[in-house]
Amino acid sequence: MGKSQIARGAIRHALLDTRAALGYSSPVPPAESFSRGFLALLIKTALVPAFIVLLALGVLAVPTAPKTRSEAAQPGLLPVATATAAPTVTPSPTSTLTPTPTATATATTTPAPTATLTPGPTSTAAPRSRPQPDGVRRSARVPILMYHYVSIPPDPGDRLRVDLSVLPDNFDAQMKWLAENNYQPITLTDVYYYLAIGTPLPENPVVLTFDDGYVDQYENAFPILQRYGLVGTFFVLAGPADVASPRYLTWHMIAEMSAAGMDMQAHGRDHVDMRRRADEFLYFQIVGARQAVEAHTGKPAAFFAYPAGRYDANTLRLLDRYSFWMAVTTRNGRVHTLDAPLELTRVRIRGGDSLGKFIAKVTAGE
Ligand SMILES: [Zn+2]
Repeated sequence: MGKSQIARGAIRHALLDTRAALGYSSPVPPAESFSRGFLALLIKTALVPAFIVLLALGVLAVPTAPKTRSEAAQPGLLPVATATAAPTVTPSPTSTLTPTPTATATATTTPAPTATLTPGPTSTAAPRSRPQPDGVRRSARVPILMYHYVSIPPDPGDRLRVDLSVLPDNFDAQMKWLAENNYQPITLTDVYYYLAIGTPLPENPVVLTFDDGYVDQYENAFPILQRYGLVGTFFVLAGPADVASPRYLTWHMIAEMSAAGMDMQAHGRDHVDMRRRADEFLYFQIVGARQAVEAHTGKPAAFFAYPAGRYDANTLRLLDRYSFWMAVTTRNGRVHTLDAPLELTRVRIRGGDSLGKFIAKVTAGE
């Protein structure tokens, strides 16, 4: 080989190296192969011993933290010590936090006597749609007592007002007698559930109804009912409540009584005769009043009491069309079936009734 050949070969090599350096065609560029080699070396010489050191540290670290058996089973996991340290801290905030909601929960339930007032098998509020009767024919002896005023009549000469007014002291004695003799006031929802699907009633059921929504029902009857833990059913008038008429329950009172567990139902928008009326009139008076009661209590109102006990076939048709569950009249009686659910009988409590007369009315058979 001559000098010129060697020189040519050197030039070619130099060219190839340059092209390779510029990244042209060489399959493994020298720079890359160098970095791969360096990485492998690094892993072998530095990372593996470092990992071993870390492992050794982990094993050594375990005895210094004498925690649980599960930790000892995972010697390599240093953070475990901190992880278990965290749960040991967590229970203490949880234990201090937990009683606080429980305390507020009981605080909100305690003042509301709903729990004591509704010991019956069903809740006071009725769902919108009636449960379909199961076809079994049942009858229930439940006196539905009918009250109007619970106050001292301002004019002793007003015989009608005197007759409709039960003195607060007498009302107190009557409720005390019911409570002490194991009578259990229930709602009309309870009566319906028994008649329709056989949901059991308590031993001595009685329904306490109050007509016309007089303000003395809030002032006198409501606190006495609460004292004995009894539920009352109030048929209120939407018209006077809308204008906050001073003689009648306001929507604020109605909402308060409902929230306290009383059953608030409609007696009409105004106290008018529901006979020989157009459907539009009946809808406004009856369905309108029900919607107002529902809007102010947030609970369904599925029952109705005819003002002055006056209704006709068209009134019944409208109540049925708008899915009222039952309605009460002013006719006397204590035994109920689903033969005429929109014409339930009641027992009128009069202003002149002695306690003995009251007891006789409650305990009578028919
Ligand atoms: Zn009335």
